[in-house]
Amino acid sequence: MPMILHIDMDAFFASIEQQINPRLKGKPLIVGSRDKKYRTVVAAASYEAKAYGITSGMPSHKAFKICPHAEFVACDSAKYTHVSREIFRLLQEFSPFVEHVTIDEFDLDISGLAPFFGPPLELGKTVKKRIREAFGLTCSIGIAPTWLLAKLGTKIRKPDGLILINEANVDALILGLAVEKICGIGPALTVRLAGLGILTCDQLKTTPENILTDNFGLTTGRWLYLILRPNEELSLPQNHPPILFAAESQRPKSIGHSYTLPAEICDQKIVFSWLRMLAEMVAKRSRKTGCSGKTVSLWIHSRNESLTRQKTYQIPTNDGWEIFMRSKGLFGQKKGIPGPVRALGISLEELVFDNAPPLLFEQKRREALLMAQDKINAKYDDWTILPAVLSEIHPK
Ligand SMILES: [Mg+2]
Repeated sequence: MPMILHIDMDAFFASIEQQINPRLKGKPLIVGSRDKKYRTVVAAASYEAKAYGITSGMPSHKAFKICPHAEFVACDSAKYTHVSREIFRLLQEFSPFVEHVTIDEFDLDISGLAPFFGPPLELGKTVKKRIREAFGLTCSIGIAPTWLLAKLGTKIRKPDGLILINEANVDALILGLAVEKICGIGPALTVRLAGLGILTCDQLKTTPENILTDNFGLTTGRWLYLILRPNEELSLPQNHPPILFAAESQRPKSIGHSYTLPAEICDQKIVFSWLRMLAEMVAKRSRKTGCSGKTVSLWIHSRNESLTRQKTYQIPTNDGWEIFMRSKGLFGQKKGIPGPVRALGISLEELVFDNAPPLLFEQKRREALLMAQDKINAKYDDWTILPAVLSEIHPK
């Protein structure tokens, strides 16, 4: 049976700040600006601050009103991303199948690891201990045969929890637990479930499947029916990025595409359009593989010469526009294309698989847009949605 171990760091940003500055330990701490002028929100709150009712997303000035003696520190995303990556590295010592879910959540596929680390709960204890020793941070761990139950497990015991959910104990654990604790059951679905008198997880589990499918349709109804059943194969909630668990050895070293043009082309604008298309193809495959790359390598075959150039950037990318801009930059500022072009190629190298999800709002929006684009193209046809510049060269 598969076994997933889901880790959710406790008050991640705030705990890191408290760890770095011991003066803040044991105090209500808010990560975010206290300046009313900028109308900022609480990025994270320590458990001492949460005790006052302060939650992330609350306007900073309101948090300040509730708890005037709270300490404020500015949000330092580079710091949190760094710690997140270090935790990811530590987790790879336990399983080759590790995934970043969000900046403070991780998944491990621990199926078959018992001979090395003991039974799942023992492994969970060891992971918690290692994280505490290495970073001084606590986390909550849920272990279950399905990802959704493992994630639910971290919500049942929090903070510093450890829980194993299986067929034997699931009914006792979900008794009286609100349905909105389940990842994928948002406010709208909660209201609709409440309309049927389903408020808690145990009520949901005892609802017959046909009632759920009659009210929510076949897909959602069936999904709702399966969530709390540990032995059933279950898909992820909608809009959730895939959890791939690709082993190191199965991971590609580079992702590239090349293309031989129908005719020699001298027009730089058209060459760049083709380059953009290759960049989009590389980007799409990287996203599908769950990676991004730091090095962009460009290959151009012209009548006069064949050249390869590459450059490594600090920030990895899997965004077609960014890959295009980076490869375009490799032509050199003034020189442009080296004579009539016959073929060209782009490859993305130095691939990174621990994609810590973006913290910045703009970047998040950009990723959501790309995800939506991939989804539409997967459903209708490749290139259903494409950058406008490609409509000139792409036969659509
Ligand atoms: Mg967390």
